[in-house]
Amino acid sequence: MIDAILIEKDGERGTKAGLVQLDDARLPTGEVTVRVSHSTLNYKDALAITGKSPIVRSFPLVPGIDLAGTVETSSDPRYLPGDDVLVNGFGIGELHWGGLATRARVKADWLTRRPAALTAARAMALGTAGYTAMLCVLALERQGITPKHGEVIVTGASGGVGGVALLVLHHLGYTVTASTGRTHEAAYLRALGAAAILDRAELASAGKPLQKARWAAAIDTVGSHTLANVCAGMKDDGVVAACGLAQGMDLPASVAPFILRGVILVGVHSVYRSLADRDLAWQRLASEVELAKLDTMTRTIALPEVFDASRDLLDGKVRGRIVVELPRGG
Ligand code: NDP
Repeated sequence: MIDAILIEKDGERGTKAGLVQLDDARLPTGEVTVRVSHSTLNYKDALAITGKSPIVRSFPLVPGIDLAGTVETSSDPRYLPGDDVLVNGFGIGELHWGGLATRARVKADWLTRRPAALTAARAMALGTAGYTAMLCVLALERQGITPKHGEVIVTGASGGVGGVALLVLHHLGYTVTASTGRTHEAAYLRALGAAAILDRAELASAGKPLQKARWAAAIDTVGSHTLANVCAGMKDDGVVAACGLAQGMDLPASVAPFILRGVILVGVHSVYRSLADRDLAWQRLASEVELAKLDTMTRTIALPEVFDASRDLLDGKVRGRIVVELPRGG
């Protein structure tokens, strides 16, 4: 039997999520069966579990957009029983059964080999959030940004993507400003690598189309007015990697930063990426995240705690990352 969280339809438009035991026969088709040891809670998972947003596109569904574990069986010659793997994206936890279960069955093409430097727990402490933070860093590098260009701002800094972005950028030698609504967490953010703290209220509402040129690069997890103000505060030829919408999906901006300062806005998506992109991002995470610092931004919970933790995450009460440890017996 499999211990799992299952999301089912509830009435015409609602959904309900519960902790269940499922027969193995209910696992979907796929070439590889993974014994899942760890998963995690991302913003998207919290939306799916609470039903606050229509993330789930197939019912019933096991949520969890990330999983790490060991191959149990594989009909694909690339993977053997005992291989340490992880999966993130490809629609798991949205369209296909995901990681919040003791066993998962997936396509072999979706698997990434877990870098040896990362335990399964730490791989999930990074999870899609950390992976996306690294994709943002890679996007800045692809545009030629280096530490000598100047300061970088990270918005939503107390969150999962923001926290890992701080860790990586600091490790690479950047001077980073952390924008946060939790200025009381300044000591924590400085320990992760922030050189300065900016109250997110300064970026949260409509601002001038062009503002004091402060930042050479930005990683924005927030969207809306915050992203517009970040763009307006970039230096000439600054690069903004935008991946999130914690404030909103809108972008109430003007073209001024783009046509007067040559600012580049790069969108970053994490779900459908090539194996080469995935391997590069995970290898870079394995070598550029200080694991002791990652541990300070991580809390581990058990499967039954996922429901309360999802509500806390959406209420902005979670700092950093949550790892979900799956029961061993299932
Ligand atoms: P978290 O919930 O961990 O962090 C989000 C952070 O955003 C919060 O901690 C908070 O930081 C800040 N925030 C929350 N609400 C607001 C608000 N109303 N206005 C301004 N800031 C706010 O989420 P993640 O870090 O996991 O994800 C961040 C965003 O990135 C989400 O929107 C998520 O959907 C998106 N994402 C996108 C991916 C992609 O493929 N493009 C992949 C992964 C995530 P603080 O308290 O410090 O201000």
